Amino acid sequence: MQHFDPATAIQRLGSHDGSRGVNPAICDSATFTFPEARLMTDTFHGETEGFFLYSRHWNPSNLALCQALAAMEGTESAWVTGSGLAAITTALLHEVKSGDHIVASMTIYGGTFAFVNNWLKKFGVESTFVNFQDLDAVRKAMRPNTKLLYTETMSNPLLRITNVPEVAKIAHQHGAKLIVDNTFTPMIFSPCRLGADVTVYSMTKFVNGKNDCVAGAICGSNDYIGSLIDVNNGTAMLLGPVLDPMRSSSILKNLHTLHIRMQQHGKNAMYLAERFKEVGLKHNYPGLPEHPDYKVACSMMNPGYGFGGMITIDMGTAEKASQVMEEMQRKGVGFLAVSLGYFSTLFSNSGKSTSSEVPEEIQREMGMSEGLIRFSVGLDNDIEATFQLIKESVEACK
Ligand code: PLP
Repeated sequence: MQHFDPATAIQRLGSHDGSRGVNPAICDSATFTFPEARLMTDTFHGETEGFFLYSRHWNPSNLALCQALAAMEGTESAWVTGSGLAAITTALLHEVKSGDHIVASMTIYGGTFAFVNNWLKKFGVESTFVNFQDLDAVRKAMRPNTKLLYTETMSNPLLRITNVPEVAKIAHQHGAKLIVDNTFTPMIFSPCRLGADVTVYSMTKFVNGKNDCVAGAICGSNDYIGSLIDVNNGTAMLLGPVLDPMRSSSILKNLHTLHIRMQQHGKNAMYLAERFKEVGLKHNYPGLPEHPDYKVACSMMNPGYGFGGMITIDMGTAEKASQVMEEMQRKGVGFLAVSLGYFSTLFSNSGKSTSSEVPEEIQREMGMSEGLIRFSVGLDNDIEATFQLIKESVEACK
């Protein structure tokens, strides 16, 4: 695969909005004027470009963020939403109708699982959940009415890596599309460059990195984004999940430090993984060569960004996990909180929180221990000291 550097792609864009600010001016307008009535009509019919219609459709601040996101992903276009789940549900609803079938990875974010397994079912969309590391299982799950394959590049919370090029091949051989959630691994992987049709993000996490808002993104071709915001049939235009332009402006500024943050998150997580291994703490990190997906990860990654900031340890029981998390919070390792991609370390017991929508028997089937603690490793300057505090917390709960 040709070398691609997402951070440089964003940097080269500069600011092109015509204001003299180094940051694009914030456009807090819901609607826009047209110099001539004819141009308004033409814009509604998609027959002219260069005009903004209404902020549920496009807004200059959203456009500036979307151009940067598209550069990062190597896609033609992008569109931003008010949450990650809004990006996911909009992208999914745009592809399926009653009678269609989705093949989805068993290890995905609990909210996405619930949407596909419970909510879409009400509208006659069927789904099959399989282990996406088993490509034969994915092939076998395909049906004539399969319209969509859905997975996460690095899965939540088991940190398994999807072989995007191979899964894309399966999808396309069957005339289906592949949507990939790349929330855990921005810049590390570029799913659309690897064959996915659409990449979705919860920007609430690493992309924004400040935990001051929820936001999402959908990245894909010009035609695809155009169809999402078509005034007659576009799922985004008609459901209206658009991100507020003020937030787009703040997220864009944070996006410009994402590469440095990802490098530091990854460096710290790798340090913890190596030390956990040394002291015999049951752990899971895709950056270690013994991880089952290490080779697949290496074959797909953009060099220089590490293996990400997510790592898990297994305390065996949910009770023990709770004790250790409370002790870590007391000692100042970080916060007992859901979510990820924050500058401080966050930890939670996945089975009892962000994956609680996944029935317990499926949790066990996918190999998720009830004592699993998921860490989003922070930007700690002294990660060795953080490791010592984690070790002491585990020992204090023995
Ligand atoms: N995708 C993944 C992998 C997530 O972990 C989450 C939230 O935890 C989401 C999507 C949903 O994003 P949001 O909370 O921004 O709606």
